[in-house]
Amino acid sequence: MKILLIDIEVAPNTAHVWGIFDQNISINQLLESSYTLCYAAKWYGESKIMFDSIQKSGKQKMLDSVHKLLDEADAIVHYNGSRFDIPILHKEFLLSGMPPPAPSKQIDLLQVARRQFRFVSNKLDYVAQALGLGSKTEHEGHALWVKCMNDDRKAWKTMEEYNKNDVILLEKVYDKFKGWIKQHPNHNAYSADVCCPNCASRKLQSRGTQRSRTAIYQRYQCQNCGSWARSVKSEKISKDSLVNI
Ligand SMILES: [Zn+2]
Repeated sequence: MKILLIDIEVAPNTAHVWGIFDQNISINQLLESSYTLCYAAKWYGESKIMFDSIQKSGKQKMLDSVHKLLDEADAIVHYNGSRFDIPILHKEFLLSGMPPPAPSKQIDLLQVARRQFRFVSNKLDYVAQALGLGSKTEHEGHALWVKCMNDDRKAWKTMEEYNKNDVILLEKVYDKFKGWIKQHPNHNAYSADVCCPNCASRKLQSRGTQRSRTAIYQRYQCQNCGSWARSVKSEKISKDSLVNI
């Protein structure tokens, strides 16, 4: 399974405002709506980190390269990408007259953090630090985005480093979360032999049975990522039995 890890950085919406508290901004006050500044991505299991930006390649070339990556991916790992990164890219593709990329499975680690754990904060920076995986690249905050929008070369260097580091952190968090991800895209669909659905490892240990209302399945725990799985075929169907209706 080709798994792509991706993170994008986006320019904020800019608008004319007459105050700073409780403002209602109408559409004709908008100067420019948010757009993708750059992306960093990596194929899981490969060391190369890909990066492209509107500054490096221009908007269309950058969109072409990220579209190609999404096209090639079977699954995409991101942090809040289901609601942020992916729809933003789709909007850009639509506005540029590009077709939708090939369908892929989404592995949104923010959703995993929310559903499976209760960290004080679900921000990537907090979660990565809590797991001892390092932290985000420090930067000056909002000013960095403004400088990049104004084509400041030094600021772009920092942005590239920041964006790439986010993808490195993303991969580390993915490795930690992997055994806990419910409904991870199934590696068995991409593998000739039986393997762990979550990580493709062959190190599976029999660990009792899983019972549904009508069948008994062999249960396994992966010795690599720790996730639990069961056989697809039921092991024993003994005597006829009854279920309530
Ligand atoms: Zn596994």
